[in-house]
Amino acid sequence: MKQKIEELNKEFDENVAKVDSAEGLENLRLEYMGKKGKVALLMQDFKNVKDEAKKEIGMLVNALKNKIETKISEFKEKITDKLNEKEEFNAKPIDFSLPVSDGVGSLHPRTIILKEVEDVFVSMGFNVEDGYEIETEYNNFDAVNVPANHPARDMQDTFWLDNGELLKTHTSAAQNRILRKYGPHCKVIFPGRCFRNESLDAGHENTFFQMEGIVVSENVSVSNLIYFMKEMLKGVFKKDIEVRLRPGFFPFTEPSFELDASCAFCGGKGCPSCGGSGWIELCPCGMIHPNVLRNAGIDPEKYTGFAFGLGADRLVMLKTGLNDIRHLNSGNVKLLKQFKTKI
Ligand SMILES: [Zn+2]
Repeated sequence: MKQKIEELNKEFDENVAKVDSAEGLENLRLEYMGKKGKVALLMQDFKNVKDEAKKEIGMLVNALKNKIETKISEFKEKITDKLNEKEEFNAKPIDFSLPVSDGVGSLHPRTIILKEVEDVFVSMGFNVEDGYEIETEYNNFDAVNVPANHPARDMQDTFWLDNGELLKTHTSAAQNRILRKYGPHCKVIFPGRCFRNESLDAGHENTFFQMEGIVVSENVSVSNLIYFMKEMLKGVFKKDIEVRLRPGFFPFTEPSFELDASCAFCGGKGCPSCGGSGWIELCPCGMIHPNVLRNAGIDPEKYTGFAFGLGADRLVMLKTGLNDIRHLNSGNVKLLKQFKTKI
């Protein structure tokens, strides 16, 4: 009897997997659960089971019965859903040649704002370059003064590839290549997607955008850096924004700073967006470390330069009022539609 139950169990599993129509499912139900179905026959046999085995066998028969009932009702739902979808589809045939009802697509808010920032820098005589997303360890770390044993390598959880290369952790990975291309007179911005193995929250994403800028020439100083940053903010926010520098530490710049912008929402009075401080941390920056220039074949005794790494996603959040960086990569159409701009 036990063996019979087991066989029936197996057989049902095989048969139910083959069902693909409402009719097939009904036939299967009758075959097993009908008045003269296989389960009913099993119940007849049950009468002949010895008393001491009745409890165990009874449980097995019940389990089989329940399983068949559940499976059949699950399949019924699935099949009904499918049929409804099919009917809906047939009732409203789609003409794929029709133009979409709500017009053309739109640019992502990040694309719109990066383009605005780029335009401001281009108007100040900057060139725009692209970096690579897959970089060598040398370009990402060594070339920008982060040697193998430097503690700063721990600051960035890196996605390493099997071949020893990596997903760039910052736009600075392109610095060496760009400095070599332009030489000692260099005024370039290079936006790009960066990757870090971060734990995700409203302020952190594993995939994010930075926009880096470097200016190298004779007599470039911190005051040039402040001037360009203020001009950029003015261009993006369409009003004068104050900036301040706080000391920072980055291996690729010396001296290094954190640049804060006065809060564009409250004008420096203090609001939730700036945590009540009136200032918003905008980007790390500083004077390019002599080793970085030297690594690119530029004489640091003769030329100086500054670099900044603008958190582009942070700027997008500031400009749009989004309070969670994860929205930017979510592909949420409802959100994106709010930033509709003609392509
Ligand atoms: Zn504020």
